[in-house]
Amino acid sequence: MKDSDKLFTQQLLEKDRQYVWHPYSRVNSDMPLFPVASAKGCYLNLHSGEKLFDGMSSWWSTIHGYNHPRLNQALHQQIDTMSHVMFGGLTHQPAVDLAVRLTQLTPAGLDKVFLCDSGSVAVEVALKMAIQYWNSQGQQRSHFLTIKNGYHGDTFGAMSVCDPVTGMHQLFSGFLQENIFAEAPQCGFEQTWDDSFFENFLHKAQAHKDSIAAVILEPIVQGTGGMRFYSPNFLKKVRQLCDDYGILLIADEIATGFGRAGKLFACEYADISPDIMCLGKALTGGYMSMAATLCNSTVANIISQGEAGVFMHGPTFMANPLACSVANASITLLLENNWQQQVMNISRWLKEGLSTCEDFKCVNNVRVLGAIGVVELHQPVDMKKIQPLFVKHGIWLRPFGKLIYTMPPFISTQDDITMLTSKIEAVLRECYS
Ligand code: PMP
Repeated sequence: MKDSDKLFTQQLLEKDRQYVWHPYSRVNSDMPLFPVASAKGCYLNLHSGEKLFDGMSSWWSTIHGYNHPRLNQALHQQIDTMSHVMFGGLTHQPAVDLAVRLTQLTPAGLDKVFLCDSGSVAVEVALKMAIQYWNSQGQQRSHFLTIKNGYHGDTFGAMSVCDPVTGMHQLFSGFLQENIFAEAPQCGFEQTWDDSFFENFLHKAQAHKDSIAAVILEPIVQGTGGMRFYSPNFLKKVRQLCDDYGILLIADEIATGFGRAGKLFACEYADISPDIMCLGKALTGGYMSMAATLCNSTVANIISQGEAGVFMHGPTFMANPLACSVANASITLLLENNWQQQVMNISRWLKEGLSTCEDFKCVNNVRVLGAIGVVELHQPVDMKKIQPLFVKHGIWLRPFGKLIYTMPPFISTQDDITMLTSKIEAVLRECYS
């Protein structure tokens, strides 16, 4: 690196440490921080000159890679037309096009779309919809039933349905609505089903059925709460139970949506349709923050006919035209690109490449579903030690707890994934032998 570049990087980092707060971090943190100069395709270019393969897709979002000409073009075109207008009393084509497409792509019956700011807000919107649904029918139902190891975001409503222990929000427990937590599904994705796996959930539902507004869960893949993959039969049973008791089902597909878990939406594994579905992350191809909460007509109509007669939510940047236009371009690209083949290939390459990690003493379990690969260790990783090692080996991963995991961009090639998995192995060797 040239001296001038070195100085620039050093000054940037100094200012960062002085003024900027990063996610889940303290100020003046001594954790390593890597300034990114640009990004293209699957790669991040650091100011220090290193080029890193991004195994995180910027937290599940950049499915088509960075700086994609088609997504860039959609944004350029939109910015020259209209960057933003309020959505109260006004509408525009990018939003209408997006709503139409989302209703066509998602499981049957989800035909009303509420566009909002971020994944956490989409969850807040879903919880509010469920509360208003009951309120409109003269019932005060304010509890949610969920499963342990879940993660739904960082805002207060969302925090109240995150796993109380692994959900990172223990600190706020005294301030959160108390909800009902069933055991996390114990039946792995491909494991043979037995109804005993559903007993705990059934028991909790029975015990509280008159106060539950909705069940909320991440279908098939529990992400940040443990990277667990569970049986579609569990989800089928939940749908059936909600139908039997007249409880709403909210599927949080913020992480799984748009192909990541091997189906366009993970609910498809169980062939079910939720009453409310949350989408985010990959919705805009990772370009901008936007999310969507979809619901069926029953939910929408009951809310609209209730005493309030309106749904009580309306963010300033709702349906931002830039975000809508890039989301539309991202969905077009996804469908054109034969995402199913891309995800299937990545799945196979991850399985092949990560299998050798099972031989390490420090490794407890290796699992792959869709374009998600997980290496679970026996002990939590030492971030200060492992993060710079990944960078040294030319890959970007951000483990948490005992989990080293990857969800690479769908455009990754076999060479990319082979390189990624061999580097994970190399880092494990360097760190743990
Ligand atoms: N739900 C799930 C399943 C998530 O994985 C996340 C983010 N990790 C969220 C909700 C919150 O989304 P956001 O970070 O955009 O608020």
